[in-house]
Amino acid sequence: MMEVKNKNLKPVIGNMQTMGHEQVIFCNDSETGLKAIIAIHDTTLGPALGGTRMWNYSNEIDALNDVLRLSRGMTFKASISGLNLGGGKAVIIGDAKTEKTEALMKKFGEYVNKLGGTYITAEDVGMSTKDMEYVREMTKHVTGIPESMGGSGDPSPVTAYGVYWGMKASAKFKWGSDSLEGKTILVQGVGHVGENLVKHITEEDAKVFVTDINEEKLAEVSEKYGAKIITGDAIYDMDMDIYAPCALGATLNTDTIHRLKCAIVAGAANNQLEDEMIHGEMIKEKGIVYAPDFLINAGGLINVYSEINGYDREKSLNKTRKIYDTTLEILLKAEQEDITTHKAALVIAEQRIQNNRI
Ligand code: NAD
Repeated sequence: MMEVKNKNLKPVIGNMQTMGHEQVIFCNDSETGLKAIIAIHDTTLGPALGGTRMWNYSNEIDALNDVLRLSRGMTFKASISGLNLGGGKAVIIGDAKTEKTEALMKKFGEYVNKLGGTYITAEDVGMSTKDMEYVREMTKHVTGIPESMGGSGDPSPVTAYGVYWGMKASAKFKWGSDSLEGKTILVQGVGHVGENLVKHITEEDAKVFVTDINEEKLAEVSEKYGAKIITGDAIYDMDMDIYAPCALGATLNTDTIHRLKCAIVAGAANNQLEDEMIHGEMIKEKGIVYAPDFLINAGGLINVYSEINGYDREKSLNKTRKIYDTTLEILLKAEQEDITTHKAALVIAEQRIQNNRI
């Protein structure tokens, strides 16, 4: 491979080279105001699938970095889950509450269509199933459309189901039994995924604690499932068996890892480790079992993948349950090779891609 000598290339092609991206598409439409970036990371295993995020980025470099990082993550998530999919992602720059229109979504659909199926889109932050319906009018390369239209609907319950099985596998690894009965579990963020996770672990008679910045939702979930509420920064000092981050990323950082008293971290949030290398190692040194996020939160991706070949919920749930076996395999590999669990998962994901390169 040719070496990049000119540092000015860094923001786009330089970063693509460093992170291994195949293609990045910049979209601009003055009429609808659409400003979007589509990143295709790796299509060795299949078409690049990943959601579209609409976010009011403060500058274009932030938007580019986000789409490059997220699309790369999708490659590994698909690979570790045994799906014949590559990694991709799209970002639309703008405020989803005030700047998103039907015309803008349809124009975005046109851009996706021009890629001829190399990139398949879906919902992400700032998007709804209604938006996917507009995209669907312009292209068939979209998933996550409503069940009434033959789609797979909201992926969150399936994501939660996968996190639940990943958590059970972690319990099996740590304690020799996968029962969650009597275990103290903190679910941080009781939104679409978090609430469904609370449901599963409550059914197993775990002692469930919940936290959320949305007080109304927090009270609602607490009452519905009899979960205890805990709020504020003190959550990181709490005595608990399992911490399940289901809100935002980077909650495993230098400050929190020092304070955490749990035995296991298993949750849905993407990019839980603030720095993959530093914090993956720190959590390992502390003896906490960390179930890699991109492995155990893949249920939603497994669900939308099933939509491509004709949606079958049962099949998709069965495949999601396999997250249990993969999690155990990875935790054991990490222990045997004395590497972080994140690294163990990455090695397996990269190996599958390597094996499939022609
Ligand atoms: P959501 O927006 O429905 O729920 C997130 C919840 O977290 C909200 O109730 C919000 O109020 C709460 N929250 C935000 N900041 C918080 C904070 N600082 N402390 C406590 N709570 C806070 O999102 P979701 O669809 O449930 O997804 C949850 C996480 O899982 C996200 O990180 C998402 O990227 C990831 N994820 C989701 C899916 C899916 O299928 N929805 C799939 C893979 C990964």
